[in-house]
Amino acid sequence: MQEKSDAELGQWITDRIREVCAGPENTLQGRFHEPAWGEPLVGFAQGSDSLWDAYKEYVGPEQWTPVEIFALTFPDIAVEAQELAVVSWVLPQTEATKADNRREDVYPAERWARSRIFGEEFNDLLKRQVAAALTEAGYPAVAPGISPAFKSVSSERFVFSSTWSERHAAYACGLGTFGLSDGLITPVGKAMRVGSVVVRADLPPTSRPYTDHQAYCLFHARGTCGDCIRRCPVGAITEAGHDKVVCREHLGRTRAHVRDAYGFEGYGCGLCQTGVACESGIPPALAP
Ligand code: SF4
Ligand code: SF4
Repeated sequence: MQEKSDAELGQWITDRIREVCAGPENTLQGRFHEPAWGEPLVGFAQGSDSLWDAYKEYVGPEQWTPVEIFALTFPDIAVEAQELAVVSWVLPQTEATKADNRREDVYPAERWARSRIFGEEFNDLLKRQVAAALTEAGYPAVAPGISPAFKSVSSERFVFSSTWSERHAAYACGLGTFGLSDGLITPVGKAMRVGSVVVRADLPPTSRPYTDHQAYCLFHARGTCGDCIRRCPVGAITEAGHDKVVCREHLGRTRAHVRDAYGFEGYGCGLCQTGVACESGIPPALAP
């Protein structure tokens, strides 16, 4: 039953996300009986925001707008873009995981690799539960990142892209800007994962305290830093940006290490997300 004001609904969604994150499913599993993620950040954007159309040009032509993925999921519900909202969240890595990964220089620490696999499984569960809770409450919702229609796309111009970018959804929801390494620098840093849902609801959009999509990166804003260039073990980050192909090749090589050293099927890296100026927050010199 829809009976909440816009602000009440926003708070209700934020509380649901925090509740799930405080539950037992948020775990690294195995020998680490501890949460995969810290306290989440949550933001909202309007379905009619002009950024969604711009993403087709700058992220990839297959990128869904909120109204496109909503119509695919709920073909019997006629909606206009302005009736939709996007809810995005940031799941920060824990202090223990970041400390472990900071000490690595080629392969991910076990906690980091576990967050990539079991933490991401939790993120998918969170997407399902948030979409289900909203739909049950009278606000039909879909998590684009786990939609059966979601697909990855390769192209000459964008190399690897997909039908929904969680990081770009988070950018639209005021949660951060991009760094030299392509990661999103959020108020809790770049060592994090993101998730989102699209919902038919009127939610107050979170303010975006930036106009430049790289406003929180010291290299782009000041010409300094470059920590992520030095941290990458395979030279995938240079002053020209992030080479997705070289990065992906290294991720593939981490599979054998994760299996042999940690005893499960997985992969990961995140060295450019730890031991860097933007690891745990927006660099103070650039904070809004
Ligand atoms: S480590 Fe430095 S250069 Fe790299 S993304 Fe972060 S702020 Fe930018
Ligand atoms: S994830 Fe690893 S391989 Fe990829 S850019 Fe970052 S440090 Fe380099």
